[in-house]
Amino acid sequence: VLQVRGLNKSFGANAVLRGIDLDVPRGKVVALIGPSGSGKTTILRSLNGLEMPDAGSVTVGARGATAGSEPAGAGGSGVVPQLPALSLDFDAKVTPKEIAALRDRSAMVFQHYNLFPHMTVLQNVIEGPVHVQKRPRTEAVAEADKLLDRVGLLEKKDAYPFELSGGQAQRVGIVRALALKPQLLLFDEPTSALDPELVDDVLAVIKELADEGWTMVIVTHELAFARQTADEVVFMDGGVVVERGPASQVLRNPREERTQQFVRRLL
Ligand code: ATP
Repeated sequence: VLQVRGLNKSFGANAVLRGIDLDVPRGKVVALIGPSGSGKTTILRSLNGLEMPDAGSVTVGARGATAGSEPAGAGGSGVVPQLPALSLDFDAKVTPKEIAALRDRSAMVFQHYNLFPHMTVLQNVIEGPVHVQKRPRTEAVAEADKLLDRVGLLEKKDAYPFELSGGQAQRVGIVRALALKPQLLLFDEPTSALDPELVDDVLAVIKELADEGWTMVIVTHELAFARQTADEVVFMDGGVVVERGPASQVLRNPREERTQQFVRRLL
């Protein structure tokens, strides 16, 4: 679903991404790990059109997949209608329309939830589907109810964000992303702002989505969670990918010295 090639991004003299390649096949989960400042958030923001890379390309789409080849019953990508592949070449000029199309294909779950404080839970969830995607309101509300029920928050639909615990707010953040029916779910350290006792509920929801077949990129410091959930782990440092491989290999048996040091400190 996702193919990133040669992504570069600098902020002034600070080269934050230096030639990132990333592949996330349909229905797979990739965990991005690495020290603070290594560029993980900048990758996610580039994938969601929030940051404009200086060079490289991003392709999102049903590459190689044909209609009808859906795994039956796959709750995630199975029910998300596939859009035609979209390829953005940042070496050339990228138009606002292309950026908007890129944004349409992914949805981001933020570290600090980023819910609209003046809107109820339900309004937060249907905002994108109704106002950006122009879907009928009744349909969006019905879907939002179903998703909120699924994460145990239907009775909170008329509450405002300040009335929620961090764990509840983040589950709303996840529901809001799902409501957009994205090809790709992006999680930016979804549990790092939560009190420890609230982390497990949120991780359980994410694990369930992974098992359902959603395609996801997760930036996380929760290495035990990454080992259970991710198909592949990508370790970054200093704006480059240092090591990548199956989660169990990178986390249990890293080849690179820098990965070893990082993993040893966190596990
Ligand atoms: P963390 O785990 O702390 O979130 P990260 O790996 O996600 O780190 P990024 O947030 O991608 O790292 O940041 C990488 C570097 O880019 C940092 O040095 C940061 O200061 C810098 N940076 C990020 N956004 C901007 C910006 N808008 N303007 C200037 N510098 C930025």
